[in-house]
Amino acid sequence: ILSRTIFNTKTPLQLSRMWYSSSVPTTKLFIDGKFVDSQTTEWIDIHNPATNEVVSRVPKATQEEMQAAADSCSRAFHPWAETSILSRQQVFLRYQQLIKDNIKELARLITLEQGKTLADAEGDVFRGLQVVEHACSITSLMLGETLPSITKDMDTYTFRLPIGVCAGIAPFNFPAMIPLWMFPIGMVCGNTYLMKPSERVPGCTMLLAKLIQDAGAPDGTLNIIHGQHAAVNFICDNPAIKAISFVGSNQAGEYIYNRGSANGKRVQSNMGAKNHGVVMPDANKENTLNQLVGAAFGAAGQRCMALSTAILVGEARDWLPELVERSKALRVNAGDQPGADVGPLISPEAKVRVNSLIQSGVDEGATLLLDGRAVNVPGYENGNFVGPTIISNVTPEMTCYKEEIFGPVLVVLEAADLDEAIALINNNPYGNGTAIFTNNGATARKYTHEVDVGQIGVNVPIPVPLPMFSFTGSRGSFRGDTNFYGKQGIQFYTQIKTVTSQWKAEDAGVSSPAVTMPTLR
Ligand code: NAD
Repeated sequence: ILSRTIFNTKTPLQLSRMWYSSSVPTTKLFIDGKFVDSQTTEWIDIHNPATNEVVSRVPKATQEEMQAAADSCSRAFHPWAETSILSRQQVFLRYQQLIKDNIKELARLITLEQGKTLADAEGDVFRGLQVVEHACSITSLMLGETLPSITKDMDTYTFRLPIGVCAGIAPFNFPAMIPLWMFPIGMVCGNTYLMKPSERVPGCTMLLAKLIQDAGAPDGTLNIIHGQHAAVNFICDNPAIKAISFVGSNQAGEYIYNRGSANGKRVQSNMGAKNHGVVMPDANKENTLNQLVGAAFGAAGQRCMALSTAILVGEARDWLPELVERSKALRVNAGDQPGADVGPLISPEAKVRVNSLIQSGVDEGATLLLDGRAVNVPGYENGNFVGPTIISNVTPEMTCYKEEIFGPVLVVLEAADLDEAIALINNNPYGNGTAIFTNNGATARKYTHEVDVGQIGVNVPIPVPLPMFSFTGSRGSFRGDTNFYGKQGIQFYTQIKTVTSQWKAEDAGVSSPAVTMPTLR
C-alpha cells in the first residue's frame, strides 16, 4: 500500500510553483493523490497583506469536485484503516522530517499570504510539527484496555478503531499549526481526511499535502477542497463524513456545530476568545510587562490565545506608563523584513473593523493611551497595518471589551483585588485562555481553581498546551465535548469496541439455557 513512497525525496523549495502557474497563479485542488485545476468559474483573490497585491487565486470548488474528493476519501478508507499501525506510524515519522526540512518554505508561504513575521511563521509551523511528532507515538496512543477474569473463563477488552471519513475546516490565523491539529491526528488513527483550508491562506496547506504524499500517505487518504460557504455546507451535509473539526469564529463555529450535529456527525468546534491577563502588584514587573506586550501584539493580535485584555490589580495600575513605552518600541513592518515585530492585519476590512473598535472605545469614554491607527510603514503604504494600541479605563459595558478585536489592541481594566478580577473574567462569555502574573503561590492556586477558563498560564502569557495534553478552551470558546489533540484528540477520531469473550476448557461441562439477564457474577 505504500509502494508509491518516495523515501529520499527532499521536496524542492520552489515546490509552490507546481500548483502556481500563469501571471496570476492559481491554487489547485488535491483530489485522489493529484494536484488538479478546478473547473470552477468562481475564484477568490489572495492578497499579500503587507502590500495588498494579488499573489494568487483560490477556486470555489464545484459540487462535482467536492463530491470527487469525498468519494476518494471513502474509497481510501478501508485499505488505510486496515494498514498496519506500524506502517501508518512510519508515514508520520517520515512526515515530521519532511516538515522540518521544509520549515523555511512553509514559513515563507505563511508570511506571503497571512502577513505574520517570518520568525512567528516558523513558530506556527513548529507548533504544528510538534503535533505530528506526537502522532508518531500512535502505537501507544491507540492502546485499548483489558480486564481479565470478569467472571469465570471470561475476559473483556476494548480496542479503538477509526471512524471513517473526517473533515477539517480551518481559519486564516495559523495556516500550518491548525491544519496540523486536524488531518495528522485523524489520519494516523486510520481515518481518511477531507481538508478545507481557509480560503485566505491555502498555500501552506497545499505544501503540507505534498509533503504527506512524499511521506507515503496513499492516494485518497488526504483530499483538499477550497471554498467558502458552499464547501462548508457540503462538509456538514455529506453523509460519508463522520466527524468535523472546526477552528474559527463563533459565527461560523456555531453554525457548523449545529448543522453538522443535526446530520449526526461528531463536531469539535474551537471558536473566538477574549483572553485576560491579571497583573498582581507582587508580580515580577520586568518579566510581566515584557510578557504582556509580546502576547498582546505578537502576530498583530491575530491569535485566539492573544492576551488582549489586561486587568491591573491595585497598585499594578502604576505600571501603565511603562507598558506604553515598551509597546511603542515594537517595530511595525512587513513580515519578511528584518527586525519586524508586528506585521499587517489579514485584510483591509479587518483593518477598518479594528480601527472602528478602537474609535468605539474613545467614543464610549475610555482613554486612548497609545494609538496605532496612523502608523506609517515606509514602502508598504498599501498594507493593512495597525500599530500597537492601548486603551485604558475600559469597563465591561464597552464595545471594545465585549468584542473580540483580533488586532494589536490591548484593552486595560482595573480591579481592586483578585476576587474582583476573577468575577470579571467569569462573567465574560469566552473561556479560551487566561494568565495571572504573581509571585505568590497561594494567589496563583486560588486563581487556577476559581477562574472558569479552559487554559491558564501562571507567569506564562500564552498557555497553549503541548500535544500530549489537549487544547482545552471552554464556555463560549468551544462547542462539543472532546477537545483537539492529546488524549481527547485520539478519542475524537476513534470509536471503541468492547469485546467480552468466554473460553472454557473442553471438559468444563455444558450448562443449561439461561433466560435471566446475565449478571456476570
Ligand atoms: P472564520 O470563522 O471567518 O473562518 C474559519 C473557517 O470557516 C474558514 O475556513 C471559512 O471559510 C469558514 N467560514 C467563515 N465564515 C463562515 C460562515 N459564516 N459560515 C460557514 N463557514 C464560514 O474565522 P477566521 O477569521 O479565519 O479566524 C479567526 C477566528 O478564529 C477568531 O475568532 C479566532 O479567535 C478564532 N480562532 C480560534 C482558535 C481556537 O482554538 N479557539 C484558534 C484560532 C483561531
